[in-house]
Amino acid sequence: FESKLPNLGVSIFSQMSGLANQFSAINLSQGFPEFDAPALLKTQLNYYVQQGVNQYSPSSGVPRLQQQIANLVERKYAAKINAAEQVTVTSGATEALFVAIQTIVRPDDEVIVFDPAYDSYQPAIELAGGKAVHVALSAPNYTIDWQIVSQAITKNTRAIIVNTPHNPSGKILQPQDIKELKELVSAHNIFVISDEVYEHITFDGQQHLSMLRDEQLREKSFVISSFGKTFHSTGWKMGYCIAPAHLATEFRKIHQYVTFSSFTPAQHALADMLEQQGEHVDELSGFYQQKRDLLIKHLSDSRFNILPSQGTYFLLLDYSDVSDLNDVDFCHWLVEQAGVAAIPLSVFYKQPSNDKVIRLCFAKNDETLIEAAQILCQL
Ligand code: PMP
Ligand code: GLN
Repeated sequence: FESKLPNLGVSIFSQMSGLANQFSAINLSQGFPEFDAPALLKTQLNYYVQQGVNQYSPSSGVPRLQQQIANLVERKYAAKINAAEQVTVTSGATEALFVAIQTIVRPDDEVIVFDPAYDSYQPAIELAGGKAVHVALSAPNYTIDWQIVSQAITKNTRAIIVNTPHNPSGKILQPQDIKELKELVSAHNIFVISDEVYEHITFDGQQHLSMLRDEQLREKSFVISSFGKTFHSTGWKMGYCIAPAHLATEFRKIHQYVTFSSFTPAQHALADMLEQQGEHVDELSGFYQQKRDLLIKHLSDSRFNILPSQGTYFLLLDYSDVSDLNDVDFCHWLVEQAGVAAIPLSVFYKQPSNDKVIRLCFAKNDETLIEAAQILCQL
């Protein structure tokens, strides 16, 4: 049997969380909150299960959740979208990314991907018969050189995947980036797959520049988000994709044969949450900024060099002054010998970089962050 994905193994997130458990280490590797989902969300999930709301939802989603998503988008990005035609509820952002890629990528199409890149993009592109064209960004600022992006575009380029705020760097696209992206998209007739799962986690007053804010980009984009990040519920695997109606129609043809529909009681609970406690979304940036700052403060006496984090719940550390090991070996050493699990940055690159950088997830209780920082300060 010939594998369709011969170069893929178990994801780094599963590997590192597995090692964290095995060595009873503090797990700052895989990105998930240590704290619980909001009480209302849990109560409402229970409520709908008990009420017998346990059968298939419409394939594109429960209409009242689609409407709440459209309302949120209008409130945040001043974008008027048609909930019934444009919003599709999916089983996590991972499903939405996969389906969006299958919707537009044909054999031999090229898709531009920025490295470090989230790990699900490349396999989804390959399974569609396409080719990922990697544009590498570097520490410490991970700034996009749009000249290089422009040179990477060929007649086969079908789409460009952007991720803002960016996992793992925490980088947020700036107005100039959006302007450059817009020019490329209109000059070359390419689509944008915009991974905005950390859209509500931005720091220091930075604005998240969703593709939905811009009328021209909106017409060419699949905008993807995840309730897992927004409502501390990564295990529910609930997300969505917003696209222009004609693209959403095509997206839904594939979605209906990947999952058909997503978990119905959770869709109702999420609609209640958005309707009744919309402020949770607005408080998320402040909540995580406090955690970022706490971790930075407690690492200030360490020998790690802290890179800027503008959003997401990740912080990058340069460990050049701590160890000569490469980042994969360093992370193994760190989890096994020091008791802290982190993610090596090189795994997010097609051409592994030699940067000595690791990623920490700070979606953890304050005590956990302080305890981890104390260990790191001793290295
Ligand atoms: N994209 C990025 C950048 C992510 O960090 C994640 C979550 N780790 C996802 C997509 C997937 O989100 P979900 O868990 O909703 O599938
Ligand atoms: N998105 C999470 C991260 O970046 C992991 C998700 C997963 O384990 N697939 O850590």
